[in-house]
Amino acid sequence: MWNIHQAYIDGAFVPVQGSEVLDVVDPTTEEVIGRATMGHREDAKRAIAAAGRAQSFMRGTAKADRIDMLRRLQAAVLARSDQLRDVTIEEYGGPWARAQWVSRYASECFAGAAQTLEEFPLTHAVGSAQVVLQPVGVAALIAPWNSAVGTICSKLASALAAGCATVIKPSELSPIQTQVLAEALHDADLPPGVINILLGRGTDVGDEISTSPGVARISFTGSTATGKLIARAAVDTMKRVSLSLSGKSASIVLDDADLDLAVPQAIAAAFMNNGQACVAGTRLLVPRARAQDIIEGVRGGVAAMRVGDPRDPATEVGPLASRAQFDRVRRFIRRGLEQGATLVVGGESRPEHLARGFFVRPTVFADVRHDMDIAREEIFGPVLSILAYEDEAEAIRIANDSVYGLQAYVFSSEPERARRLALQLEAGTVLINRTQPELLAPFGGVKQSGIGREFGAAGLASYLESKTIGLRA
Ligand code: NAD
Repeated sequence: MWNIHQAYIDGAFVPVQGSEVLDVVDPTTEEVIGRATMGHREDAKRAIAAAGRAQSFMRGTAKADRIDMLRRLQAAVLARSDQLRDVTIEEYGGPWARAQWVSRYASECFAGAAQTLEEFPLTHAVGSAQVVLQPVGVAALIAPWNSAVGTICSKLASALAAGCATVIKPSELSPIQTQVLAEALHDADLPPGVINILLGRGTDVGDEISTSPGVARISFTGSTATGKLIARAAVDTMKRVSLSLSGKSASIVLDDADLDLAVPQAIAAAFMNNGQACVAGTRLLVPRARAQDIIEGVRGGVAAMRVGDPRDPATEVGPLASRAQFDRVRRFIRRGLEQGATLVVGGESRPEHLARGFFVRPTVFADVRHDMDIAREEIFGPVLSILAYEDEAEAIRIANDSVYGLQAYVFSSEPERARRLALQLEAGTVLINRTQPELLAPFGGVKQSGIGREFGAAGLASYLESKTIGLRA
C-alpha cells in the first residue's frame, strides 16, 4: 500500500499542509493501492518561493553547468526506469510495451536537451546590438494523468536547459508515478529549489501557480477547457504561457495506399496508450471507393487485439485509467449508436473475459458523419470513427473541419503527394506512413489544440527571453 503525504520542496520531501486524501485505485483490479494527500495553496506558495531563490542561482549558470545537471538527471531517471515502468502500469494501466518506452524516453529527454543546449547559440549580433537569451524565470510545469512521467521529464529538461527553476504540478490522478519520479530526480542531487514537485487540485494549487507573481512561465499540457482557464488566470501577471491541449486527429488513407501497411498503422494510431493519447488518430478518413476493404481490414485487426492485463507484454489494450474515464467512453459509444453510426466491432459491454477493471472493448464505427459527436469530440478512449470521402479535396475539408489541430496521419504510396496534402492540413504535426514521433522536432497544436511548441530547440527557446544590448559604435 502506497502512502504519499509529502511534497518535494527545496530539495527535501516535506509533509503537505493540505487535508484532502484521495484513494489511488489500480484500474486493472479496481483495488485501492494507495492514499495520497493533496497539497494546499500554502504548499504551492512554499514551492514557488523555493524556486524563486533557486532562480537566482540558475540565472548565473553557464551552459556547461546546466549540461552537467541534465546528464545527472538522465542517469538518475535511467536508474529508476524499470520502477517507473512498473508504477505506470500499476497506477495508470499503461500497456507494458508503451510503459517501457515511456520510462526509457523519460531519461532520454535529458540527453536530448543537453545536446540541444550544446548546439544552441545563446548570444548573437544584430547590426551593432548584441542579443542575449536569458532564462525567463521560474517555470511552472503542469501535467495530465495520461502521460505523467514523459510529460514532466520533457518539460523539465527544456526548462532546466534554459536555466529556469521549476515548480511541477502533476495530475492528482498520478501520485505514485510522481513519487517514484520525484525520488529519481532527488537522486540527481541538484541544488535545493531547482526542482519542486507537488500534487494538488487545479482549483487550489493550480490556481495559485497560475496567478502567483513568483511564476514567470507556465508550460501546460492537458485539456483545452483547463488550458483556457490557465491562460485567463495567467494574463494579469503577464506570464509566458504555452498550452499543449486536446486533439481529434485525422488519419487519411489515400486511394493509392498499400492497405497491408496503412491499416495496421491506422489502428496503432487510434488505439495507442489505450486510446488515451492526445495525438490518437481517432478519425479515419477513407476513399469511398475503397471503404469496404478498409472497414473489413480494420474490423479484423481490431477484433484480434489483445485486451487485458497491462502487465502482460502481449497485451495491446489495457484498462482505462479511472472509473470516470470508463463511464465517459461508454457514454460516447452509446451516443454513436443513438446518432446512427454503424458499429463495426466492439461496443458498450465490457470484454467478456474481464469481469473487473476499467476495460472497454476497442470499438470502431463506420458510416460516421462529421457532424456526429463521435466525429467531433475528443473521446479519449479506444474508439475509432471511420468517415468516407469522395476525393482529396473533401478529405482535406473533413480533416480540417475540427476545432482541434494537434496531429494528422497520411497513408499513401506516393510520399510527394502525401507531403503536398500535409501542407494543407491544419495540424501541428503530420506523420506520413508512420506513427512514431520525431522527438526533437517542434511539437504542439494549432487552433484549440494549443499555443506554442515543445521539444528540441523550439522547446528550449520557449523558456528563454531575448535581451537586446545596444552598444554605441
Ligand atoms: P486536465 O485539463 O483535466 O488536467 C491537466 C492538469 O491541469 C492536471 O494536473 C490538473 O490538476 C491541472 N488543472 C486542472 N484545473 C486547473 C486549473 N484551474 N489551474 C491549473 N491547473 C489545473 O487534463 P487531463 O484530464 O489530466 O488530461 C487529458 C487531456 O490532456 C486530454 O484532453 C488530452 O488530449 C490532453 N493532453 C494533451 C497533450 C498534448 O501534448 N497536446 C498530451 C497529453 C494530454
